[in-house]
Amino acid sequence: MTSAPAPSAPETCDVLVIGGGPAGSTAAALLAARGRDVVLWDKDRHPRFHIGESLLPRNLAIFDRLGVRERIHALGVFKPGAEFVDDATGEQAVFSFAAGLDRRFTHCYQVPRAAFDATLLDNARAAGARVAEETRVTDADFAGDGSATVRAQGPDGTVRTVSARFVLDATGRETLLAQKFGLKAPDKRLNTAAVYAHFRGVEARTGEHAGCITIHLVEDGWFWMIPLPDDIMSVGFVSGPAAFKSRAGSMADLLFARIAASPSVAARMRDATLVSEVTGTGNYSYRARALWGEGWMMVGDAFGFLDPVFSSGVLLAMASAEMGAEVADSWLRDPRAGRARARRMEKRLGASMDELSWLIRRINDPVMRAMFLRPRNMLRMRDGLISVLAGHFLYERPGFGLPLAAFKATYYLMSGARRLGLRNVTP
Ligand SMILES: Cc1cc2nc3c(=O)[nH]c(=O)nc-3n(C[C@H](O)[C@H](O)[C@H](O)COP(=O)(O)OP(=O)(O)OC[C@H]3O[C@@H](n4cnc5c(N)ncnc54)[C@H](O)[C@@H]3O)c2cc1C
Repeated sequence: MTSAPAPSAPETCDVLVIGGGPAGSTAAALLAARGRDVVLWDKDRHPRFHIGESLLPRNLAIFDRLGVRERIHALGVFKPGAEFVDDATGEQAVFSFAAGLDRRFTHCYQVPRAAFDATLLDNARAAGARVAEETRVTDADFAGDGSATVRAQGPDGTVRTVSARFVLDATGRETLLAQKFGLKAPDKRLNTAAVYAHFRGVEARTGEHAGCITIHLVEDGWFWMIPLPDDIMSVGFVSGPAAFKSRAGSMADLLFARIAASPSVAARMRDATLVSEVTGTGNYSYRARALWGEGWMMVGDAFGFLDPVFSSGVLLAMASAEMGAEVADSWLRDPRAGRARARRMEKRLGASMDELSWLIRRINDPVMRAMFLRPRNMLRMRDGLISVLAGHFLYERPGFGLPLAAFKATYYLMSGARRLGLRNVTP
């Protein structure tokens, strides 16, 4: 008879980061660089596959603060912009990041997430965080003073316990603390699901648009095509519940049927070969009703996730991790200051997600699609839209207010005109 391994001796730390995706690794690296004693536990062993491969220019500023920009450049595909294609007409529009309102960050990368996440985790380790992989957190108890006792199971079944002065939940879609505290709320207005896989031999864009992500807009949803190194193309289909409920066969059958039914996607995939499993992710939009509590904060997908159409997930994860690191650091100095900072961050993050969500909810709307496919630059609203696509929904936006207000006003005017039957009104 074999007995369970003996529990290891309890550890202590300033901050426990649960999860080593982009959010957890970012927060751990920043806190360790400030001299905080950080423990990071991740249930997986890296490198491992993850979806979420297209990044935004605003990410570059965070890469610089982490000191990883060169390493990301080396492992990714250069991304100069985003292309939108109308599947029915073949009409296309390319938004080059170089034409946005902020000319400091005019490109980003499309990355194999296994290598990207492993790079960020190594960076956290190098900054001094005590990282353990294959270590799954099973339980967290918070005392009245906010300090926490957290238990995890290591690779050989050993139970590990840590006493932390502050906890950052970066568990992604597992949403550990949102589940524990009953805070997770599905976003019914973004009720979409996705099916995706990697292919070789897909027709890639060339010339000045090489490396762009393409969003193919089909009648009841959209496809992404994300070029990755080694001639890999990440292809995904996103739609509402109806498209997924009506399927008769497997997820792979659904993906192949939808590719065949889309003229613009099928044309690019004539010679394509599947080189990965086909994966489905459903009901993925949610947000927790609170971002933080006594001694803890959620960062990245652990707090919330929006639909992937504007590739905002990794940026939101890393930006909220920077906020989480600031909150944890000030909390350790003075919990009152930490609470005040957490309140500010909660407001800012919520407002940024609301702004993005306004656009996402309308992506299948004919007026919004017309504005994407035939963009006008009146009051610089096209350049403002490019800035949103580049990730400028999160930060201070000098001079961005007017173009975006003009974009929204034009949308409402055109929608009103359409409702009155004036179908030929253009922005
Ligand atoms: C279909 C789809 C397409 C997407 N496309 C894009 C895109 O093109 N661009 C983009 O920017 N984003 C995209 N995203 C979003 C992106 O995947 C996420 O927003 C991003 O990975 C969030 O990072 P994170 O660090 O918060 O979470 P994750 O990357 O999910 O990391 C969470 C980590 O926590 C660990 N963990 C979980 N539970 C525990 C536990 N109990 N104990 C210890 N460790 C634990 C996991 O092992 C994991 O490593 C997409 C998402 C979906 C669903």
